[in-house]
Amino acid sequence: MRDPRYDILFTPVQIGPVRTKNRFFQVPHCNGMGHAMPLAHAAMREVKAEGGWAVVSTEECEIHPTGDLTPYVEARLWDDRDIPALALMCDKVHAHGALAAVELTHNGPTASNLYSREVLIGPSHQPSKYGYPSQARAMTLKDIREYRRWHKEAALRAKRAGMDIIYVYAAHDLSLPMHFLQRRRNHRSDEYGGTLENRVRLLREVLQDTREAVGDKCAVALRFATDELLGPEGVELSEAHDIVGLLAELPDLWDVNLAAWYNDSVPSRFAPEGAQESFVSFVKKLTTKPVVGVGRFTSPDTMVSQIRRGVIDLIGAARPSIADPFLPRKIEEGRVDDIRECIGCNICVSGDMTISPIRCTQNPTMGEEWRKGWHPERLPPRRHASRVLVVGGGPAGLEAARALGQRGYDVSLAEARRELGGRVTREVRLPGLAEWARVRDWRVGQIGKLTNVSVYLDSVLSAQDVLDFGAEHVVLATGCHWRRDGFGRSNGMGIDCLAAHPSVFTLDDLMDGRLPSGNVAVFDDDGFYYASIAADLLHQHGCKVTYVTPEDSVAPWSVNTLDYRHIRKRMAKQGIDVQVSHSVAGFDGGVLMLENTWDGSRIEQACDAIVTVTARLPDDALYQSLLEREAEWTDTGIRSLRCIGDAEAPGLIAHAIYAGHRYARELEEPSTDEVAFKRHFHAAHPQDV
Ligand code: ADP
Ligand code: SF4
Repeated sequence: MRDPRYDILFTPVQIGPVRTKNRFFQVPHCNGMGHAMPLAHAAMREVKAEGGWAVVSTEECEIHPTGDLTPYVEARLWDDRDIPALALMCDKVHAHGALAAVELTHNGPTASNLYSREVLIGPSHQPSKYGYPSQARAMTLKDIREYRRWHKEAALRAKRAGMDIIYVYAAHDLSLPMHFLQRRRNHRSDEYGGTLENRVRLLREVLQDTREAVGDKCAVALRFATDELLGPEGVELSEAHDIVGLLAELPDLWDVNLAAWYNDSVPSRFAPEGAQESFVSFVKKLTTKPVVGVGRFTSPDTMVSQIRRGVIDLIGAARPSIADPFLPRKIEEGRVDDIRECIGCNICVSGDMTISPIRCTQNPTMGEEWRKGWHPERLPPRRHASRVLVVGGGPAGLEAARALGQRGYDVSLAEARRELGGRVTREVRLPGLAEWARVRDWRVGQIGKLTNVSVYLDSVLSAQDVLDFGAEHVVLATGCHWRRDGFGRSNGMGIDCLAAHPSVFTLDDLMDGRLPSGNVAVFDDDGFYYASIAADLLHQHGCKVTYVTPEDSVAPWSVNTLDYRHIRKRMAKQGIDVQVSHSVAGFDGGVLMLENTWDGSRIEQACDAIVTVTARLPDDALYQSLLEREAEWTDTGIRSLRCIGDAEAPGLIAHAIYAGHRYARELEEPSTDEVAFKRHFHAAHPQDV
């Protein structure tokens, strides 16, 4: 039974002509599947509706070929032929009593038109946003009329597809109505430029057009960024007050957030739950219409507080709905403990950024709903009453044990240390990663509810122990360790001077509390978050830190998780010296010699210690010795042996969770063919052949 304190979360909200069943609102979010994989997309959205979200939205939905977002794969409503793909989603969402919403957009100078080969358009002449060697041309008044027509026609198509809520999008620095608001993008001298009234004109017109076109049946939502944190060049809070004042009653719903995406979906390392409150709380004071806002909300108490204090009316969520599509249902059923809370790592964002189907650290079924038929809450029951031994209680072992337990297997989990969590428990000691403990805590909590899973701490298993144990299936999830020999992407032969030097440290040393002091260089040949966190930790410890990388930029992969700008800003603030395009050429415990990647020139600097963040090696000795003793397996009852997670190939926590989950799902199941998932195949449209 639900806790009565949370009743308010389950009251309906009227949004123009439509009514929600509760206050849980999955706001638009990208997913890397979009128009290219409509079945996979619809199945992913359906799971959200099934999990209790009252509103389930698409990602950005392109309305016209002049606003083509290639290579990013979003939704599309260029013409009637795009309707069936979105109708598919609407039908699936409606089947669970939820409303479907679509975020219509024309990205103007932030589009690419790489596929359509049209000329980009914008409020004024300007370079395209993402570094393409092209410019957008200034829209004429006729172009503006055309754009309004496209938007209106797309709204009508969305209505035909079955959408209940149609968004007008003016957020994230990603759509024409927002670009017209921005002084830096809008240098017009006609009635669409200059004064605020003029810059707001297009947004007002599009809102009116949309209501006129579909307002009889659909609600009109306005997604509006209240601050870009760019000062007067961008939309800023003071002006946002005036804009909300000017348009207050025009939309049926205000969806408010920060721009750009890196300020909206901030990684937990850089912003806590509810961080947008001071930027959006004013909106409700200026309108009688309902307001939805986001803040990586996973705590029902925080949600209730947001509503009671009049900050927002609907609990907006992208990431929390990805990490746990069943979050609303769990609150409704009084199972708050079961919520799989988002950790704010933004691996989900990396799907869109790398143009591949969305995945999630916490929820390994995300993106697999259609292609593998994985459901976030349901697993097939075990086929046989087998015993499974899981060795290693890091994310891979924990998830394997949990999911095997859910399938009904008799599971034993052995962990060498006195605490569970493996790398998660170690990484959460690093600055800013505390919330990542949720990966461990959720799984430990779930395992605690399963009587068929036994956990043995402080249990280092040898090959003999495993053979003696008598389990039919053995899965080794024994993790990995960081190399200290300099081997990495740029140094395939390692770096001689590092291998045995006592003043060379690894991330394992740091996580074990062995920290250097004085002048310390962090050598990053990994490119993601680890090295920047090591620099952060060492700075806090009082070291004078130099960050060195052979790459041309700091932590290049962190762009994909929206960490990059926050990392750069923090490093700049901390006064961390940055040396890009340099590798380590020599180190003697007092002097560090760096070599320029491009011209081979060398520089020297005083350096007491180096922290290498280059590559890892699997801890697979147990696996290797069991392989050597394969002849003994049958006699000891072992039918299968697998090595998974970081012990197989070091990667992200997301990879380890996925490996554990996949192992558990597939155990004793008939093997799939070579391609382990369903794919989309394109049939020519009847009109095109
Ligand atoms: P992954 O990310 O693949 O889950 P981790 O490094 O997080 O890997 O976790 C591996 C866990 O396995 C660690 O907690 C480690 O203590 C444990 N472990 C390693 N070798 C053994 C062993 N022989 N017996 C039991 N536990 C082990
Ligand atoms: Fe949250 Fe990380 Fe999952 Fe994204 S990938 S939803 S940030 S846990």
